[in-house]
Amino acid sequence: MNESDVILVTGGAGFIGSHACKALAAAGFRPVVFDNLSMGHRHAVKWGPLVVGDVGDAEALRRVFGDYSIAGVLHFAASAYVGESVGVPLRYYRNNVATTMTLLEVMVEAGVPPLVFSSSCATYGTPTEVPIPVSHEQRPINPYGWTKLMGEQMIRDAGHAHGLRSVILRYFNAAGADPDGDLCEEHDPETHLIPLAIDAALGRRPPLRIFGTDYPTPDGTCIRDYIHVSDLADAHVAALRELLGGGASRIRNLGTGRGHSVREVVEAVGRAAGMPVPTEIHPRRAGDPAELAAVSDSGTPSGFRFPDLQGIVDTAVRSRGGKG
Ligand code: UDP
Repeated sequence: MNESDVILVTGGAGFIGSHACKALAAAGFRPVVFDNLSMGHRHAVKWGPLVVGDVGDAEALRRVFGDYSIAGVLHFAASAYVGESVGVPLRYYRNNVATTMTLLEVMVEAGVPPLVFSSSCATYGTPTEVPIPVSHEQRPINPYGWTKLMGEQMIRDAGHAHGLRSVILRYFNAAGADPDGDLCEEHDPETHLIPLAIDAALGRRPPLRIFGTDYPTPDGTCIRDYIHVSDLADAHVAALRELLGGGASRIRNLGTGRGHSVREVVEAVGRAAGMPVPTEIHPRRAGDPAELAAVSDSGTPSGFRFPDLQGIVDTAVRSRGGKG
């Protein structure tokens, strides 16, 4: 690695991308953010320049590759709401599949720098084995999962045809926030469990709707593997280092290996906030599998900074002005 390597970060103004930029800068890289600001925030771009543009715009991407000598790419930009993807699937195929294809074409023209790709546990669909190994069959049950699987396939094919080296990272549920308070989770609309539960506890939103209490899980609510966003960010830096050091393409899960039910998350938020989360029971949300958890992989040599749900939730509560 060269200390001043420039790294293109698509979606670098978003939740995970902005945390990754902080980790890149701390590791001595120079992140250049490319983001259309449709979901991301200008104020979250703190560790390098922001180029406002859409990953579907090949000319805009070519200009970035012309303006900077890009040593590697972290590709976060995507639409990422599982529930929404069921209602507007074509928008998801355009925003996630067509854009990734454009990015890959421009990367091939630009000499094929290595790529770290944000994939998802949603590519597994309803798992036949939990914890889920990276070798598990991929049969998505929602359009979002399909878009990520198609992204993976294009990347594999470009690897064979054009020598693209990549690390595909299949995230489980990104959660928490920067422990130094530089960044927080700011989705609009917010659909994710932990921020909604915190805001409900703090009286800023209506009671949390629990989507489904009739799943085949011990307490009837869905189980997910929540991984701290700073741990995800560190895993991206580690993956990039591997690739820049000449490492071969690989695929990793990023999850702590421990699943927690919606009710367990609600309890953890209540403890962190110092007041209970008001809840309401609602029907299942479309596209949600009952249980997802990874065969544990931090993606880094040093392991997890936040291995426990409570520690993850505490950082999220602090970042939203609760006790934490
Ligand atoms: N969930 C819920 N109420 C909400 C938001 C989410 O019960 O208001 C549940 C959702 O059904 C899922 C889990 O919480 O089982 C995590 O959902 P989230 O949207 O945070 O992440 P996803 O798993 O969709 O990536």
